[in-house]
Amino acid sequence: MDRATYNNGRAAYNTGTAGRLRLTLHAKRGDKPLVSEPRREGSPNSVRAVKGMNDVLPSEVGRWHRIEAAFRRAMEWLGYREVRTPYVEPTPLFVRAIGETTDVVEKEMYSFSHHDEPLTLRPEGTAGIARAYVEHKIYNEEPITRWYYLGPMFRAERPQRGRYRQFSQLGAECFGDAGPGCDAEMIDSLVDFLRDIGIASPEVFINSIGSGDTRARYKQALVAKFVPVKDKLSAESQRRLVTNPLRILDSKNPVDRELVQDAPKVLDFLSDEDRAHWDALRRHLDALGTPYQIDTRLVRGLDYYGRTLFEIKGAYDKLGAGSTLIGGGRYDSMITELGGPQVPAIGFAAGIERLLIASEIQVPTSVVDVLVAPIGEEAFNAALVLGRDIRRVGIRCEVDTRKASIKALLRRANTLGARIALIVGERELRDGVVEMKDLAEHMQERVARADIVTRVATHVAMPFVAHKRAP
Ligand code: AMP
Repeated sequence: MDRATYNNGRAAYNTGTAGRLRLTLHAKRGDKPLVSEPRREGSPNSVRAVKGMNDVLPSEVGRWHRIEAAFRRAMEWLGYREVRTPYVEPTPLFVRAIGETTDVVEKEMYSFSHHDEPLTLRPEGTAGIARAYVEHKIYNEEPITRWYYLGPMFRAERPQRGRYRQFSQLGAECFGDAGPGCDAEMIDSLVDFLRDIGIASPEVFINSIGSGDTRARYKQALVAKFVPVKDKLSAESQRRLVTNPLRILDSKNPVDRELVQDAPKVLDFLSDEDRAHWDALRRHLDALGTPYQIDTRLVRGLDYYGRTLFEIKGAYDKLGAGSTLIGGGRYDSMITELGGPQVPAIGFAAGIERLLIASEIQVPTSVVDVLVAPIGEEAFNAALVLGRDIRRVGIRCEVDTRKASIKALLRRANTLGARIALIVGERELRDGVVEMKDLAEHMQERVARADIVTRVATHVAMPFVAHKRAP
C-alpha cells in the first residue's frame, strides 16, 4: 500500500485530548502540480525571475524526484552510469559539435566572454559529454561507454508552454557501438520509461539520414528540387538552401511544408550499408514489439546526426506543438570532430518539464510521518527529545515548536500529511505517557514513553487499512 493513500483521502478525526473538540479535516487531494509557469505578480519594484527561467517549488519537487528516479533506474538497469559535466563550456565546442548553421548555435546560445575566453551556458548535453569522453580518453579504458545525465540547459528561445530558457534535460549517450541493435534497445527502453512515468501512449517516429555520402547526394537532390521554386520558399528556407538544405524539411512554414510534400525522400538515397543498418533497426524494433512510424521529414535540428534519428511524441492535448518529448539519434562522426578516434555514438535527450506536463503520475504529498505536538511550557523539552528519538530510528518527524493551540497543531499534522500525531502535555509528562493519534485510522491511545518509539515505528510501517473496511 502506497503511503500516498494516507493523505489522499478524507481524514476525519477526534482532536480533543479528552474528546472535547471534534474537527473534521479534509486532506486536499493533491492537484497535479505543474512546473511553475511564470507569475507576474508583486509590486513594480519587486525582483522577479528571468523570463523563461522558472522556480520549482517544494510542492512540485516530488514529481521531479519521481521522474528522475524512474529515469536513473531505467538507465542503470541498462548498464548506464551517471556523468556530470560543467554547465559552462568553451563556445567553440558547441559550434563544432552542434554545427554553425543550427538554430541553437545561430540564435539560442547564452554566450559571454570572460578574460577574453568565449564561454557558453550549455544549450544541450551531448557536446559536453563527448568532450569529456575525448578529454579523459575513455575510449582507451572500455570498448563501450554508456553514460546518462540530468541537469539544466539554457537556450534563448521564445518562452511558451513546454519551452523555456532554462529547462532540464535527462539524456544518455552510448559510445562505441555502431550497430542498429543499440539504437533499437535505446528506443524500446525509452517507451518503457515513458509508460513507467504515466505517459500512456507514446508514439515513436524514426528515420535514417544515412552517413556522409548519402547525405551529400541527398542534399544535392534537395537543392535541385528547391532551387527552381526558391522564390516561393520562406526567407529562412531560402537561407537554408545554401547553408543546410536538410533543415528545409522540418520548416514549420505552411508554404514550405506544401513544397516539401513531394521532395525526394532520404530513404531512397541510402547507400547499401546505410540501408542494411536501417532495415536491421526496423527488424530489431519489430522483434522487441516496439511500435513505430517512419517519418522521412524527421531531420532534427542538430548538424551532428547521421543514420538513425528518432523522436518520441505524446500528450498532444497537453503540449500541442511542443509534443516532442524525446529526441535522439546517431552521431558517428562527432568524436573525431572533437579530436578523438573514430568512435560511433548514439544518444537522446528529453525535457523534464515536458515529461511533467505530459505525465499523469501523482506522488505522495506527505512531508513527515509524525508530528510531535508539545502542549504547555513544561512539555517542550520532552517533545524535542521525543522528536529526535523518533528520527534516530529513521522516521520523518517534525516537532511543532510554535507553542500553538491543539487545534492549530492538528491542522498542521494534517497539512504535513503526518500519519501520527504525538501529544505531549503536562498530564502525559506526569504519567510518563504520550498520547498517540493515528490520523489515518482515527485511533487514539496512551502509550508509555518507554514504548512509544517502537509503537510509532510499527504504526508507520503498517498500511492504512481503512479503505478495506466493508462499505
Ligand atoms: P533537442 O536537444 O533540441 O533535441 O531537444 C530534446 C528535448 O529537449 C526536446 O524533445 C524537448 O523535450 C526538450 N527541449 C528542448 N528545448 C527545450 C526548451 N527550450 N524548453 C523545454 N524543453 C526543451
